[in-house]
Amino acid sequence: MTRTLEQAAAEASSCTKCRLAEGRTQVVYGVGAPDADLLFIGEGPGFHEDKQGEPFVGAAGQLLTKMLQGIGLERSEVYIANIVKCRPPGNRDPQPDEIEACTPWLVEQISLIQPRVVVTLGNFATKFVLNTSTGITRLRGQVHDWHGRTVIPTFHPAAILHGGGEQSRQFQLLKDDFALIRSTLDDPGTREAPETPEPAIAAGEPASEPATAALEATTSAPGLSDRIVVPETDPADEQLELF
Ligand code: URA
Repeated sequence: MTRTLEQAAAEASSCTKCRLAEGRTQVVYGVGAPDADLLFIGEGPGFHEDKQGEPFVGAAGQLLTKMLQGIGLERSEVYIANIVKCRPPGNRDPQPDEIEACTPWLVEQISLIQPRVVVTLGNFATKFVLNTSTGITRLRGQVHDWHGRTVIPTFHPAAILHGGGEQSRQFQLLKDDFALIRSTLDDPGTREAPETPEPAIAAGEPASEPATAALEATTSAPGLSDRIVVPETDPADEQLELF
């Protein structure tokens, strides 16, 4: 029997599968509607998320909430998660073995929520989910087919805040991306539940380094895309490139 998101979250709350367990205040599993059409995936909890136990509650989260409201959505209507569920010390990038240990939680979340549209927030989440070395500035603004779902990469809200803020050209692009999220959700063509099997974990290779490595902070962790297998049973501008 497939378990509920709540049951999965309860198990995750005592996870010690990687070293991030040692420094966390609590596991930040995810928040939102368990049957959301729209899933956001960020990188990992920061200071405020670690304290409050909820993803995207700091300054970047407030911008995310505002962008959602701009397209007529409340946080409670979507689901918000991260690649890693525990705060990396000093907000460093998650390391490949930490991502490897944590990915089953994310795969199970996707399997249980069955979102039609997945929005990857920033370079790190986008490269991981799409298993690509191409940076966010090239991938954003488009829809990508991903195992019967639609992935829309956009800038990490923190990158906007650390860049030019709401006066910047990048903020306008972020707004364009949220308009694309709205129109994709409204498109009857993406309304059907995907027919493809649930994602499940298999062994994967690290993404290759991009030619434009100097501009793009890459992750050497294996991506999700090359690790999709058919389950036998229930599964389950530079600143912007830094996030
Ligand atoms: N940045 C992320 O990627 N995730 C959070 O939850 C908060 C900030």
